[in-house]
Amino acid sequence: MDVGRDVKASKLLHDFDRVVLACGASNPRDINAPGRDAKGIYFAVDFLTANTKSLLDSDFADKKYVDTKGKAVVIIGGGDTGNDCVGTAIRHGAKSVTQIEMMPKAPDKRAENNPWPEWPKVCKTDYGQEEAIAVYGHDPRIYESTVKEFVKDKNGNLKAVKIVKLSWVKDPETGRMNMQEVPGSEQTLDADIVLIAAGFLGSQSYVTDAFGVERNERTNVKTAPGRYRTSVENVFVTGDMHRGQSLVVWAVREGREAAREVDESLMGYSNLVVQ
Ligand SMILES: Cc1cc2nc3c(=O)[nH]c(=O)nc-3n(C[C@H](O)[C@H](O)[C@H](O)COP(=O)(O)OP(=O)(O)OC[C@H]3O[C@@H](n4cnc5c(N)ncnc54)[C@H](O)[C@@H]3O)c2cc1C
Repeated sequence: MDVGRDVKASKLLHDFDRVVLACGASNPRDINAPGRDAKGIYFAVDFLTANTKSLLDSDFADKKYVDTKGKAVVIIGGGDTGNDCVGTAIRHGAKSVTQIEMMPKAPDKRAENNPWPEWPKVCKTDYGQEEAIAVYGHDPRIYESTVKEFVKDKNGNLKAVKIVKLSWVKDPETGRMNMQEVPGSEQTLDADIVLIAAGFLGSQSYVTDAFGVERNERTNVKTAPGRYRTSVENVFVTGDMHRGQSLVVWAVREGREAAREVDESLMGYSNLVVQ
């Protein structure tokens, strides 16, 4: 049942004393470059979800997944989701896998200004990238680059992506670092399939619109800090929909804390203990 489409928010609020929104943050950030309508461009989570579903439902016999076998695959985004795409594309037998990352490569060892016990800001090579190194003999990542154009053939199928190098330049007035394209650094990569793993923009807006809850500047559902009550009476929010794409451990923690706040709002007190 899709809340906001199959089920009206007003019905839930009428039938129940409290509603907790826990719809995740799966609204993908798009890449609005020319040629975006080419056939062969998918959002990472759609690609990964179809793959897992087809595996679990039929061991891939139903063919309801994007097959990367023998294909040149370009993944936009160097984060964890992009890494999952790298691993999945390789395991289906991709001809090549390239991962485009906007940020510069982090150092292999801690920098002087990043001592223990701070979180180590070093280059992480995850399982997908390790598999790429083992299979193709090199790291799939191209750093400080972005996509300028998706190139189509005459039938509208994707055939290449044009990328360009970026450099970070300090704005003399604000002191802020901005990204600028490096003139003459364009490069064309063969691409049969592009997977967009460029981050997420909070939850699907039709759900938040259906309940009329306020969102913050990061497009997550807004609450007071450390709280779960939204701007709409009797509506609470938790997990990724509250904090943005995060980790399972945070979703578990938030779920418990939200349950406690809901309990408090119903009883005037709560005996629920959040460890
Ligand atoms: C590709 C990928 C890989 C990840 N890998 C890891 C990892 O290795 N380790 C880790 O800790 N975290 C990982 N995460 C993050 C982790 O999945 C999330 O932080 C966690 O699942 C958030 O839990 P949640 O309950 O808030 O939302 P979700 O798990 O996203 O659950 C939301 C649920 O709500 C449902 N839903 C959405 N809209 C509606 C609606 N309108 N009506 C009804 N139901 C709706 C969805 O179908 C979904 O079942 C990964 C995320 C992604 C995208």
